[in-house]
This record gives sequence, C-alpha cells and structure tokens, in this order.
Amino acid sequence: MKTIGLIGGMSWESTAEYYRLVNELTRDRLGGLHSARCVLYSVDFAEIEQLQVQGRWAEAGEVLAAAARSLEAAGADLVLICTNTMHKVADVVGAAVSIPLLHLADATAEAVRAAGLRRVGLLGTAFIMEQDFYRGRLEAGGLDVCVPDSDGRALVHRVIYEELCLGIVREESRTAYREVIRDLVAAGAEGIILGCTEIELLIGPEDSPVPVFPTARIHAEAAVDAALQGVRNGGPAAPSSR
Ligand code: GLU
Repeated sequence: MKTIGLIGGMSWESTAEYYRLVNELTRDRLGGLHSARCVLYSVDFAEIEQLQVQGRWAEAGEVLAAAARSLEAAGADLVLICTNTMHKVADVVGAAVSIPLLHLADATAEAVRAAGLRRVGLLGTAFIMEQDFYRGRLEAGGLDVCVPDSDGRALVHRVIYEELCLGIVREESRTAYREVIRDLVAAGAEGIILGCTEIELLIGPEDSPVPVFPTARIHAEAAVDAALQGVRNGGPAAPSSR
C-alpha cells in the first residue's frame, strides 16, 4: 500500500472528511482492520485565505509547496491538495516534489465522464467559478461547464467562507443552494460538480434533480485507487484471535 500525502486545513472541516474517507475506502477495499497509510500537513487557513483575498498566489504556492516537500520527506508516495481553489497553484506544488500530485479537476472530469455526462454546472468559490485554472482543466477533460449567474455565485461563495469553512450548516443555505442548482439544471446542466470540498457537508444527491459530483469524495477515491493499485492485501486483514 502506498502512503497518501494530504495538504489540508483549507478548511479543516473538509480535511476531516478526507481523512475519514481515505480510511473508510481502504477498509472497504481490504477489509478487517485495514486503514489508509497517510501523512497530513494541515495549514492555518486564515493565512491562506488572506493570501487569496490579496491575490498573493505566488506566496500561497510557496506555503503549499513547502507542505508538499514535508509530506514527501515524511514518506508520502503521492500528494493531494485537499481543496479545489488552491489548485490555482497546483503547478508550483507539483514541481516542488518528485512524487505525483493527484489533480482534483482531472479526477472530477473522469468521474463525470464515467457517469456518461458532459454538460455540468460548477459550484465553488468565486476563484473556481470565475477563473480559468480549474474550469479550463475540466473543459480540457471534455466537459462543457456552466456556472451560476453573479447573484448565485456571490451566494455560493459567501456560504463557503462564512458558514461551511466554520462548520456551520444552515437549512436556509441548503434551500438557497437548491435554487441555484435548479437554475443550472434549467440551463442544461446534466450534473452538478460540488467544486468546493465543503459543499458536500451541505448538499447531497437528494438536493439535486441531476447527479452531484462531490469533489472531496472523488479525490479521496482516486487517492485510494492510486495507493492500492496492485495491492490485494496490505498485510494482516483481521485482528488475531485471542
Ligand atoms: N475547500 C474549498 C475548495 O475546495 C474552499 C476553501 C479554499 O479556499 O481553499 O475550494
């Protein structure tokens, strides 16, 4: 079994989900007491959020590149940036290490294609919905991407930073997100990418008339697939009998 390196803390609310998911998925695949071999580097999100707001992406890239180097030094065989938004600096992070970086947009595009869909609505931070670094990568992966109108984008962005990243899940925000999703479906979306790793704390399949693609789960699945490639049994599968 390979060791998964997680660059987390953006926010820790979703990183906790990544940790749970990679362990659950490994147990489901290997059985018994198996769990994921992983190393986590968790940043202070307040520092990263300030760099985002001030557009200081090069500095943010250096912070995450240093985290990736630490993970490699700690034995990670692959690295994940546990946030869609910070894939803005994925190239810098990937170049800082000699282990592979598992890109979240690639894993997501593959999941959408595997579901037989092409036209998707994309929800996420304003950086994700309004800039090209992530959306363009989805489009290069064969998807046709639409985003909410400006009011919808402002609402989705605000709920991420003012609620979900703080662990606050509000019913009224769920209702508002459902309306945004309905508009995207009316505009032709066949699926909805939950392109922020906290959105799946608020929205599930039951909140959408079309399939949703939860990116933390998709990323965790891709990581476990990569970590277990060629592994049939990662060691003792069950507690010894006493
Ligand atoms: N976790 C979020 C994402 O997937 C947003 C937090 C951040 O800005 O990194 O984009």
